[in-house]
Amino acid sequence: MFELVFLGTAAAVPSAERGLPALLVAKGASRFLIDCGEGTQRQLMRSAGGFRGLHHVLLTHAHLDHVLGLAGLLASFALYRVDGIVEIIGSGETVAFVGRYLAQTIGPERGGNYRLRAVSPGPVLVHPDWRLDAFPVVHRGTASLGFLFRDEPRRRLLTERLDALGIPAGPERAALAQGRAVMLADGRRIAPETVRGPTMAGAKLAIVGDTEEVATLAEPVGEADALVIEATFLDRDAALARARGHLTAAQAGRLARDAGVGELLLTHISGRYKPHELLAEAAGHHPNTRIAADFDRISIFARSG
Ligand SMILES: [Zn+2]
Ligand SMILES: [Zn+2]
Repeated sequence: MFELVFLGTAAAVPSAERGLPALLVAKGASRFLIDCGEGTQRQLMRSAGGFRGLHHVLLTHAHLDHVLGLAGLLASFALYRVDGIVEIIGSGETVAFVGRYLAQTIGPERGGNYRLRAVSPGPVLVHPDWRLDAFPVVHRGTASLGFLFRDEPRRRLLTERLDALGIPAGPERAALAQGRAVMLADGRRIAPETVRGPTMAGAKLAIVGDTEEVATLAEPVGEADALVIEATFLDRDAALARARGHLTAAQAGRLARDAGVGELLLTHISGRYKPHELLAEAAGHHPNTRIAADFDRISIFARSG
């Protein structure tokens, strides 16, 4: 299960209601900031989560509306002496740009409170229970990345079978939960297969920043329980969307439908439209669609789990 907090849902310029792009993903005690538009640190404070547990910033690309909040955020981390280092992750191009920007504003990296990490499409972080991967995104000639959070599939222990076999609570059950056989005090050997239920899929959350097309995205976001993606234009302005390297709501809706996505969460909302117009257009293709608003909190569960 992953939790989302939308911190900024505007496209290009903020409005009274919408901050510039930033999204928080929480997994247990760890929190990940995806993009960091200008003003993100105040949005974080208003979201009541503050800076706790925030040690990774994932950047989709280096356009200013997605990265300008970083210097202020990191300066505040230093001022408040927030523990630990913040790792800033993005493509080589994104990280090189952000490195220059931070060096010229809050100072160079040298032993400071942040570290830059360039990644390629593929694994970014791997934990025993979940993983984070990056995938390529096409957007106006940038080296953009999308991000995929996935819980590993799980097999729960069947309590009634454990009880029937007289397996005591404690290290034996813990070992079986991890897939290891155990020897009981009376000499019986219990294989994990005998006490585990069927495999249950883990939650899959796909996040795409700005993008100019959807054809290459169907595979990486396929069967995601939730997809966060931009919807900057309506189809009546499809030519403008193409010229600016962005999607229409209809394109996002068709992608979600064709890729078997659970819930479609649209962001990067332009002030030129009413949100209900964007919703109606996308939902015409994928009914389970929502237009994100700043401070929306959404829990993402595996549909089959
Ligand atoms: Zn943007
Ligand atoms: Zn952009």
